[in-house]
Amino acid sequence: MTEMSAIFSNMTIEQEKQWFAEQQEAHRLDLEREKTEIANRKPAEHHINCRDCGAFVEKWRWVHKDHPQAIRSGWRPMCGSCFDNYDNYP
Ligand SMILES: [Zn+2]
Repeated sequence: MTEMSAIFSNMTIEQEKQWFAEQQEAHRLDLEREKTEIANRKPAEHHINCRDCGAFVEKWRWVHKDHPQAIRSGWRPMCGSCFDNYDNYP
């Protein structure tokens, strides 16, 4: 008899393993894509200053000027130390 997954009732153990392997691979590809995307960012196309103190922020925090949220709700990047100030924010 085929052993069934304890997590997914409709999957066998083999299928469950396969599913997790696929998730892991998809996650790895996502991270890679994100790394490349960040490396290729151009300052002219991004908001690159902290919305609170105006300091230049790390590249991974940049917000693309064409991002719908940047256009609609004024989403801006925040530097690490300003972000930390919001730690106790409800
Ligand atoms: Zn700041």
